[in-house]
Amino acid sequence: MADVPSEAPEHCPGTQSENAGKASACAGCPNQSLCSSGATKQPDPGIALVKERLSSVRNKLLVLSGKGGVGKSTVTSLLSRCLAANNPDRNVGVLDIDICGPSQPRVLGVLGEQVHQSGSGWSPVYIEDNLSLMSIGFLLSSPSDAVIWRGPKKNGMIRQFLSEVDWGRLDYLILDTPPGTSDEHLSATSYLKGAGITGVIIVTTPPQVALLDVRKEIDFCRKVNIPILGVVENMSIFVCPKCKNTAEIFPASSGGARAMSNELNVEFLGSIPLDPLLARCCDEGKNFLTEMPDSPTVNALNEICKSIVRKCEEEKENCLNNSQ
Ligand code: ADP
Repeated sequence: MADVPSEAPEHCPGTQSENAGKASACAGCPNQSLCSSGATKQPDPGIALVKERLSSVRNKLLVLSGKGGVGKSTVTSLLSRCLAANNPDRNVGVLDIDICGPSQPRVLGVLGEQVHQSGSGWSPVYIEDNLSLMSIGFLLSSPSDAVIWRGPKKNGMIRQFLSEVDWGRLDYLILDTPPGTSDEHLSATSYLKGAGITGVIIVTTPPQVALLDVRKEIDFCRKVNIPILGVVENMSIFVCPKCKNTAEIFPASSGGARAMSNELNVEFLGSIPLDPLLARCCDEGKNFLTEMPDSPTVNALNEICKSIVRKCEEEKENCLNNSQ
């Protein structure tokens, strides 16, 4: 009979472990001396840099979606335009860290713009007097450039984006993240931990498969202790641009995002209709709010924005009360 080892083979103990650099699995690892020196257990200096840089940002919001294609980038751009237009005395910034599909330059109509670097950091691109954007898309020579980036490079880029953009004073910074809960989310949330995240907005569509992913997102937020501002349901109904009749595109078999939000005790922020004119405006980088000011879609957005402003104030108060 073949010998059965009494113990499973030892694996890398992890850079934060007491055994880092000392376990038998570390023998021959190129990082052994770094790990055994204890340097890897020091807090990442990036966390302090991000905290310092974002100290002039009042509310930091993360937009998440379980799946690609549910309209996360579209909703991010609409909410940022709407927040800026409805609150002219407040400054709004958008940070697009959707590394593999940075679409904010296109939907916000500033594709091909250059970012400038000065002594105080990268200057974002201005869409309105009170709306600015920084996107990984501005730095890529081709849209397919970043697809092959791996963990450490993505992590470094996110740290740079969070710590080196000169936003000035901002009332809202909205982060457009990749779909799912990937390395990028962990990087962004760990760097933002020191600076504080006001809350997360989750975007979904009505079908069950998308809602299942939303449950995972909610679980992720609760595990990493980030407040959830609420859920936005996108493409819930179709409003015919001609006859204005409505139809359900994705029949929600069990009450859709509203029922799920109630069940999971998170706020339902509202629904945005599927609107072909909206898709066209985004493709052409036009401002849908000024192109179609009286549409049901803009009315829905205005209501969602009001709720987000209210939720941000509530979160600030909660924070104050908890720190007293
Ligand atoms: P994600 O960021 O989740 O991958 P996008 O925001 O890029 O998704 O949207 C995917 C596609 O769906 C885009 O072509 C966009 O214009 C379209 N879209 C998103 N929301 C709507 C909507 N409410 N009405 C019509 N088209 C929409």
